[in-house]
Amino acid sequence: VRFDIAILGAGFSGAMVVTHLVRETQTPLRIALIDPAFHAPKGAAYSTMRREHLLNVRANQMGAFPDAPEDFWRWLNGRAEANAFVPRMWYGDYLAEIYEKTSVLAAERSIAIERMAWPAQRIHALEGEYLIEDAAGETLCAKQLVLATGNQLPPSDTQGVIRIPWGYDYTNLPTQKDAPIWIIGSGLTAVDTVVSLKRAGYQGNVIMLSRHALLPQAHPALPSPVLAYAPQVLAGQPLSRIMHHWRVWAKAQIAQGASWQATIDALRPYTVALWQSLPLEDRARFFRHLWSRWNAHRHRMAPEIAGELTSMQQQEFLTLRRGSALALDTGAVTWRDMAGAQQRSEASLIFDCRGPRYQVEAMPWLADLLRESIIHAAPVGYGLRLEAPYRVSTAGHPPLYALGPLLLGELLETTAVPELRTEARDVARLLLA
Ligand SMILES: Cc1cc2nc3c(=O)[nH]c(=O)nc-3n(C[C@H](O)[C@H](O)[C@H](O)COP(=O)(O)OP(=O)(O)OC[C@H]3O[C@@H](n4cnc5c(N)ncnc54)[C@H](O)[C@@H]3O)c2cc1C
Repeated sequence: VRFDIAILGAGFSGAMVVTHLVRETQTPLRIALIDPAFHAPKGAAYSTMRREHLLNVRANQMGAFPDAPEDFWRWLNGRAEANAFVPRMWYGDYLAEIYEKTSVLAAERSIAIERMAWPAQRIHALEGEYLIEDAAGETLCAKQLVLATGNQLPPSDTQGVIRIPWGYDYTNLPTQKDAPIWIIGSGLTAVDTVVSLKRAGYQGNVIMLSRHALLPQAHPALPSPVLAYAPQVLAGQPLSRIMHHWRVWAKAQIAQGASWQATIDALRPYTVALWQSLPLEDRARFFRHLWSRWNAHRHRMAPEIAGELTSMQQQEFLTLRRGSALALDTGAVTWRDMAGAQQRSEASLIFDCRGPRYQVEAMPWLADLLRESIIHAAPVGYGLRLEAPYRVSTAGHPPLYALGPLLLGELLETTAVPELRTEARDVARLLLA
């Protein structure tokens, strides 16, 4: 079966590439949208059915289109304030509606979109096309291919170790007399999990284990005024110089009453350009030493959730521990504490919230393309190497584009809707060019 374009992944990124293609194409197209997930186009992020799982971006910043950041808030039609952090499942409904409209428009414009509900197992390049193969060896061919495979979640749950906490049934929880529940990781997924445990009425203790024991910071209750910062003069400078410049500037802004959050947000329009101008050893250094702290400050949680977490800690419902998990078995966590000693602790239930994996080795469907040097891992890891904007295939091979978390090592700021909506439009335009 032959397609003009195949898109791997039908989460926000893949679905929005299709939406822009359908809106902007001047010629008929045949598009294959490949994704085994039942929750497309919501993705793991917006398919949660739990109301306490909130967006971590304000409603009026979550529009799916780059020229209309308020679109989602308008769609809410009075259900929330513009600045509110609303349930993620509402955003899932918004995306589903956009995708439905896209399907209707596609039919009107004679654009064929075929949904393939299987995971791509292998991809080859052959005679100017990509061959995408499912587990049974069935193939389809496409002249252009887009990788929108997003956040690679760990393999599915094993007995007593929950790896995908958003879909977990929180009704049959251990009792107070049982061993504590352990959560591995302390990022936004870990926060979702502990909040759901509390809401579900769990009476025991929760231990959160992570290397830095850093919880995400909170957004301020009201949005901070946007600060003008012009760090582009620093492009090409070493990381230490950029950090020093920003620290001095941020201190002065805070002394004049600005919030620390605003000093981080002021970097956002320049992050990609500064990142791309950094020497590779500085990018590697950043991932080694600063990434956890960057994530905790950059990807913040809603203030009401932060308040809940503080009281959970005060009531000793939640305890944070510093250490590295070594093994997660049914009923026990083996971990190394900060003194280097190995510990084994009983756990009635374990949630593995260490987050998505960005190493291409964890994506076996890319193995053939990597082996044939059609694509390369990003020089410091964390996704794929860019050959040109969004293009990951090397010269002489058919166009292969990527967007979203697969470009983390190359762009750094490429995981949230405010970036992805622009990427989706830009990739669609490259496909149509
Ligand atoms: C829990 C959570 C909460 C978040 N909250 C926010 C938020 O509030 N605001 C915000 O801006 N961002 C948020 N994000 C960031 C989020 O990454 C993006 O907003 C967005 O959902 C990413 O969409 P995506 O399409 O790139 O990836 P995904 O949604 O991960 O979709 C990728 C799709 O690719 C499919 N796929 C993977 N491999 C294959 C294969 N081999 N073959 C076929 N299909 C494949 C998967 O099944 C999946 O459906 C959150 C992320 C998470 C995980």
